Amino acid sequence: MTIQSGSPVGLPGYYWDKRLHNYVEQRTRRMVKRETVNGLLRQVADGSAGRLEGLAQAFAEGKLTGAQFYKAAQLEIKHATNACAALAKGGWDRMTLSDWGMNGAQLRQAYVHLRQFARDIAAKLPSPAQLIARARSYADAAFGRFWHIRQTVERLRGRRTMRIRTRGDDRVCSECREDERQGWQPIGTFHVPVHIGCRCDEEYG
Ligand SMILES: [Zn+2]
Repeated sequence: MTIQSGSPVGLPGYYWDKRLHNYVEQRTRRMVKRETVNGLLRQVADGSAGRLEGLAQAFAEGKLTGAQFYKAAQLEIKHATNACAALAKGGWDRMTLSDWGMNGAQLRQAYVHLRQFARDIAAKLPSPAQLIARARSYADAAFGRFWHIRQTVERLRGRRTMRIRTRGDDRVCSECREDERQGWQPIGTFHVPVHIGCRCDEEYG
């Protein structure tokens, strides 16, 4: 059994068990529940969304310059994306060159959008609601990176089917519910997040 610390992904005292394909608590040797990991993921994504919203608002109100906003938001998006990826892989030390490369590609695309977002804010184009939605959408992309990796990992361990488990919170929309209603389907059928702010789960079988 390979013991790898889960502490950098917010799971101190845990390691990734390659055989179980799961985080295990070092002290009790118990598997970490799926819900615990997914809760941590939502915490990362929602925390990041809140900070991005704050940055965009500060820029719109003239409390930050465009350059300051861009730099801070870029760092936030980078940290969130990398953290979600590492959490999905089973720890930072399990991230491969290819994983980092795909994170980089996703980030480069996000930065292009971010530059346009900064220009739009400077031109006072987004409405208050649009400002919030656009700022938070970068955290959704980071959240989605987790599930993208999970699909790959689950395929590699032989899983072939997936289903959507809605959160049951006020963000669940008819589209999420319709996906959930379809039940088990081949892996790749669904992609979380379904919409902005979606925090639904994928389950594999
Ligand atoms: Zn959803």
